[in-house]
Amino acid sequence: MLAKRIAKGFLLFFLTTFLFAEDQNPAPLAHAYSLYLQGAHQQALDIYQPAVKKSSPSAQGCLDASIVLQEQGRNSEAVGLLDGCVRRAIADPELRSALAWAYYHEGALPKARTNFEEAIKIGSRRPLDLLGAAQTALEEKNYDQAQALLAEVAEKQPRLALAYYYQGKAYEAQEKPDEAIAAYQRVLKEDSHFVEARPFLAALFERMKRVDEAWKQYARIFQVDPKHVLAREKKGSLLAALTKQPDEIIPPKIISKHTPVERAPGWEKDSIIRVGIGTSAGGNVLPRKAVAFRAAGAFVLADSVTGKELAKGEGREIWIIRVEPKNRYAAEIVDPKGKVAATFKKSVRLKMAISQGRTTILSRLSYAPSYAWGGVADRELRGEIEIALSPTEQSLVIINLVNLEEYLYGVLNSEMPTNWPMEALKAQAVLARTQAVYRRKISRPHKALGYDVCDEQHCQVYGGVAVETKRAKTAVDETRAQFLTHKGSPAHSIFFSNCGGHTQSGREIGWGNVAYWQGVFDGKDATLEPQTPAQLKRWLQSEPAVYCNLPKYAGAAEFRWTRVVLASDLEARVSRKRNLGRIKNVIPLRRSRAGHMNAIRIQGTAGDLVVDREHETRRVLGLGALRSTLFVIETTYRDGKAYAFTLYGGGWGHGVGMCQAGAGGQAEAGASYKDILTHYYPGTALRPEAN
Ligand SMILES: [Zn+2]
Ligand SMILES: [Zn+2]
Repeated sequence: MLAKRIAKGFLLFFLTTFLFAEDQNPAPLAHAYSLYLQGAHQQALDIYQPAVKKSSPSAQGCLDASIVLQEQGRNSEAVGLLDGCVRRAIADPELRSALAWAYYHEGALPKARTNFEEAIKIGSRRPLDLLGAAQTALEEKNYDQAQALLAEVAEKQPRLALAYYYQGKAYEAQEKPDEAIAAYQRVLKEDSHFVEARPFLAALFERMKRVDEAWKQYARIFQVDPKHVLAREKKGSLLAALTKQPDEIIPPKIISKHTPVERAPGWEKDSIIRVGIGTSAGGNVLPRKAVAFRAAGAFVLADSVTGKELAKGEGREIWIIRVEPKNRYAAEIVDPKGKVAATFKKSVRLKMAISQGRTTILSRLSYAPSYAWGGVADRELRGEIEIALSPTEQSLVIINLVNLEEYLYGVLNSEMPTNWPMEALKAQAVLARTQAVYRRKISRPHKALGYDVCDEQHCQVYGGVAVETKRAKTAVDETRAQFLTHKGSPAHSIFFSNCGGHTQSGREIGWGNVAYWQGVFDGKDATLEPQTPAQLKRWLQSEPAVYCNLPKYAGAAEFRWTRVVLASDLEARVSRKRNLGRIKNVIPLRRSRAGHMNAIRIQGTAGDLVVDREHETRRVLGLGALRSTLFVIETTYRDGKAYAFTLYGGGWGHGVGMCQAGAGGQAEAGASYKDILTHYYPGTALRPEAN
């Protein structure tokens, strides 16, 4: 027993000395990593490779060099390099695993199999090795073995969506459609953003003659990608065969009763903010020919320009405002009996006789259009409603005129669930307030459309009365009139869900050199931060202890996620921008310190496409946007051609400013909302300001 322990201790000592002592002079390594991040891959390789060539090569050096090669589309060179390292070096599980994966990606399945077996043995059955062995078994048509391995992966790492994705594949191959359906549904349960599972699900439902469910899947795909050819076609062609109405299959969220609301303390002194309602993902006006509404009490519709009263109604009646059927330059007000009560050219304002605590319900507006979680819902709003006719957009523009602090009641829970720690909620309240005022006063993104902020992610999500909670109100009231400022003016206080462990700077993402948009490590122990390409990959394939690794509050996939993108699908998406022929590789060109891919080159047989805008990268690579640009990408080749790309990613959102999950983790660890804000926005101050 004792001898065994000593031997084990010695082995550990030996391993660590071997791995980290040799060739690990920190200065050139740090330099190599910064070269790698900047995209000087060959120069980085030149530093990593000497460690590989020795008679007893460094495992870390081998891993780093092989990753750089693979990312350049030089997988077969990586195979050779890793094979040489494994032959000459010690039994390092990571090295063995990397070799197995390199063989798998190359399509050398028997070699992949034996190396995964070895990696599983010396690495004590690590989930990713089991997954690799399962994927290999699946392709070698050893389905039962693949299933057994996948079951073990799922048991060890139940939140790993990839495990269920391959279970689905295996069940399909085994002709077990019901089980395959359940597996793909589990993928989406673990991560609703893994939309790549939906086409398989849709095809299976269709095959099983479950038409309503098939239609629903196609409708969901269409929602995130209206140009998706198959989804568009099927959404139309299956419509006639539906047994239920589309509304029953994806039910809109209906609000049947008005909610009594209390005014914010001191509301008489607050300013009014104009919020665009039911806007597109980019905060613009969606085509909309009619708006139906119900007010909680007696109301007046007046011309917004002249103030002239146009119509008068009672509470709880359904009124409609619509573009005149024969004249897009005018709109009409239709009373509950269906009679046209008045017409107008520019805009009307809905005012309630008693505005105290009364709300208006707008019927069936879309929300989060083009996002995986979007849909149709009623909207209940405080304040006044303005409806304007935009003949150029051929649409009605809805604007909510609401007291700033009360607007925040309807923002907070949409942006951060209000069961989160109070200090994090207070930080969020300050940011939401600052963001609103910054846009109203300084950046004015929607000036031309007549509102200060939109109600989507573009500005910040405003759910209205439906999402108000007691804790949201407390967080808003307790930070009343406090703003984040820099040099005396409101800061551009952008934020996002989850940074994955490290935020990025405005300069890195290409949004400008704003002093307080700096990349910060989001944990206590900065020694965890990756220092080499292999460490970055390991970081994204594991769950390090940082503030935003917050399973108690956030979904697991918000911190670490995976996606499988078929090369054929990527080709179809890319071809809408430019025809690149067959896609060969997706090559990282430039990464942030945190690892975000801020520029990529999509390489095709007929040309290349460089994508360097954050939202474009997320949209072009994923069916429905990727959660973030923080990922490593593995290319699987079959018959010498790229077949699939597997992404191991971290975080959700752009990564600049406050990491919301990190704020939650810091609050849990005892930080105040002021500490949290200073951490994410260095050099800013909290100030009251006339709002
Ligand atoms: Zn906006
Ligand atoms: Zn974070």
